[in-house]
Amino acid sequence: MIGDRSVTVYTDDLMLGHNPEVDLPFVPSRVEKRVRAILQKLDFKWSYPEHPGRLKAIREHLDKHPIPGLRFATGEAATYEQLGRVHTTAYLDHIFSLAGKRAWLDRDTTAVSPDSIQAATAAAGQAIAAVECVVRGESQSAFALVRPPGHHAEPVRARGFCLLNNVAVAAAHAQAKLGCERILIVDWDAHHGNGTQEIFWADPDVLFFDTHCAAPFYPGSGLLQEVGEGLGEGYTINVPLPESAGDVAFEKAFREILQPAAAHFEPDLVLVSAGFDPHRNDMALNLSYDGFKAITRIVQDIADTHCGGCLALVLEGGYNLTSLARGVHAVLEVLAGGEAPAVYAAGVPEVADAVAFHRDAFTTDPP
Ligand SMILES: [Zn+2]
Repeated sequence: MIGDRSVTVYTDDLMLGHNPEVDLPFVPSRVEKRVRAILQKLDFKWSYPEHPGRLKAIREHLDKHPIPGLRFATGEAATYEQLGRVHTTAYLDHIFSLAGKRAWLDRDTTAVSPDSIQAATAAAGQAIAAVECVVRGESQSAFALVRPPGHHAEPVRARGFCLLNNVAVAAAHAQAKLGCERILIVDWDAHHGNGTQEIFWADPDVLFFDTHCAAPFYPGSGLLQEVGEGLGEGYTINVPLPESAGDVAFEKAFREILQPAAAHFEPDLVLVSAGFDPHRNDMALNLSYDGFKAITRIVQDIADTHCGGCLALVLEGGYNLTSLARGVHAVLEVLAGGEAPAVYAAGVPEVADAVAFHRDAFTTDPP
């Protein structure tokens, strides 16, 4: 029943300060020139899709439809030392030097506004706080509702609206300070978590499982054959999917690949890069709200089986504000103990209803 399990939501209004408004002047640079050239070629007015309204929409929906058992909290901003476990000092020095400025960081349209660095360190800090909360047993699960997102951020490079790799910073913190030895990171965002993959590529203590829309969809990585290297070979699992995949495909991937891999790995902490752009009203992959519930339940079962329910989620993408807010709500309901209904291929239950409705037309003899 909803309310049977405790859930803590970590968030901080500082993250609303990250707001690259593209019409304002940016620090002149080579990247700035390239981005401007790309934007000028578009036949529509482009605005930054990863905007403060995303978090506001989630909060408003949760306020309107409260979930029993949910507690809200705010963690400290991540420190330079905590971020330095997954990013180079050269990269961090560059990022911190941009505080107070408007700058394009990558030609894939990743940018900062004057308060973005504060927002990004707050985001990584909420991910750390979520992990500390579940490892210390303060609640059964935790969800860091953060932005800017993190899973595209590489050790030396901002990409895909991501500045700091929040989930990786949280995993590295759990290893360094909380006694976690084996960490499972599940990335169900529609895009491949290239940054997280790169950070733990040769690390056998982090199992990285990623379902995503197959290349050439952004960022173009995450092929089946990308399995890690060195000691980490076999500890990266990519499941590239067609754009139309849907609930049944996701459930099959989670049951038939993730579950046995997790049973073999025996994690002592489970983290999720939880993107909501796989929703059928967003970018790709055709998940329904019940689909999100189904994969949340599988991840929750894995955490219950192997690590006393130690489960922390970190928000990644999700750009349709309605499906983002409702998707987060659906996942939180399951975390709080709610039901995860059975999933079907899209349209099949409706066809079953229609079959029942029309059945008499085929079986009754004409008068
Ligand atoms: Zn995404």
